[in-house]
Amino acid sequence: MAVDLGGTNFRVCSIQLHGNTTFSLTQSKVAIPRELMVAKTSKELFSFLAKQIEIFLKTHHEDHYFSHIKRRQTQGEVKEEEVFNLGFTFSFPVHQVGINKGLLMRWTKGFDIADAVGKDVCALLQAEIDALHLPVRVAALVNDTVGTLMARSYTSPGKTGTLLGAIFGTGTNGAYVEKLDKVTKLTNNKDAGDYDKSTGEMIVNTEWGSFDNSLRTLPNTPYDIELDAKSVNPGIQMFEKRISGMFLGEILRLALVSLLKDPSFPLFRDENSAQNDIHSTTQIHEGSGLWKQWGIDTSLLSICAGDSSPGYRMTRQTLDKDYGISAVSSEDAEAVREIAAAIGKRAARLAAVAIAAIVIETGRLDTSSSGTATTEKKAGVEPPRGNVDSVGKGDVPEEDVIDIGVDGSLVEFYPGFEDHVREALRDVEEIGEAGEKRIRIGIAKDGSGVGAALIALVAGRVA
Ligand code: ADP
Repeated sequence: MAVDLGGTNFRVCSIQLHGNTTFSLTQSKVAIPRELMVAKTSKELFSFLAKQIEIFLKTHHEDHYFSHIKRRQTQGEVKEEEVFNLGFTFSFPVHQVGINKGLLMRWTKGFDIADAVGKDVCALLQAEIDALHLPVRVAALVNDTVGTLMARSYTSPGKTGTLLGAIFGTGTNGAYVEKLDKVTKLTNNKDAGDYDKSTGEMIVNTEWGSFDNSLRTLPNTPYDIELDAKSVNPGIQMFEKRISGMFLGEILRLALVSLLKDPSFPLFRDENSAQNDIHSTTQIHEGSGLWKQWGIDTSLLSICAGDSSPGYRMTRQTLDKDYGISAVSSEDAEAVREIAAAIGKRAARLAAVAIAAIVIETGRLDTSSSGTATTEKKAGVEPPRGNVDSVGKGDVPEEDVIDIGVDGSLVEFYPGFEDHVREALRDVEEIGEAGEKRIRIGIAKDGSGVGAALIALVAGRVA
């Protein structure tokens, strides 16, 4: 089993692995009531979570649940094999001190429950699960990027293993497989405690969303500066603020508002809509998301990028229906599309920077079955593009494939995101066309749930 406490929702799922890279997944999702995010005691939140697990078991694993209850009542015993190992994806800062032990450092994303800070979140959840006598053991505390990496490793068509799991959703982050001797924080530290050295590898959670917090090397637009200044965490997550779903819509909004204030730019002005076939004037309604911070969702960028309808009808309809901007001319719709496209393209190219850094740093490009330098550019070879899982087949031998799993609404729904990533990867000198061809990118759908369950399964066996 797996549960995921992210920002707004709590997901519970059970996964059956078929052992052949496929799985079946049963999932339920419930919005977390606002009052529980700021409850007086952590018990209120965690007992709600345990209750959701109970409802899930009763609904989807009825036989298992009731036979367990019956045996417990009649025989007073619990059979070990009846207990589900559960992976707990908890997307808040924790100090993880064991596979199923992590102390909450602080709440984020609108949560604020004082007594939970410093406590082991797995123990808090287990206590409430036990209070309901559920056959569930919290076996692993999982970061969502590690879950994505694990899920892709399982579902990937190749046998070479997955290098990187990356998320491009509300936020962005990546976890990758590093050689243990490069993790000097552990290998040079006598007090590092006991850890498994058998594989010679270690998964590193990069937290790349906070890249550029101190370096400040990335070029800024006035909209980046304004977005950051008005955010709840100025100066923090600077890379993420240019890349992920939470922010791209807001960058678009700030750019549009700034154009509206520019008298020399005729965006959404009457003179444009006069050319409209609908013969009405553009109106921005008072309640339009254009006037509110976070008022434009990143899904608008996806709609713009995918709009090939005549006169950009889809973009105009969305601006009308979802954002209260009515009777937009096709010229104005085109202007919105171009700005949205620039924001989306920049996000994807920056995403490629993070991917390129991992590919280069791990030295994966230096090994090739053909023995030739793979960074050398091959003239006349058109690299495959934009086709999930298409790379690595055909002219790239399987052992040369560098496999990457990705998850999140942006990479899943923004049309052409992968194309832009690939174009940027080819532009990186150390990667080039030959290197880019070796990189296989696959969507790890529901990755964090599947990955968390996989980790729980393994952790449960080892325990
Ligand atoms: P999470 O990362 O929280 O698990 P998601 O991967 O669904 O969840 O990402 C949610 C983010 O994706 C939100 O910031 C939302 O604005 C954005 N988003 C939702 N739909 C789309 C879409 N069609 N295209 C691009 N971004 C989207």
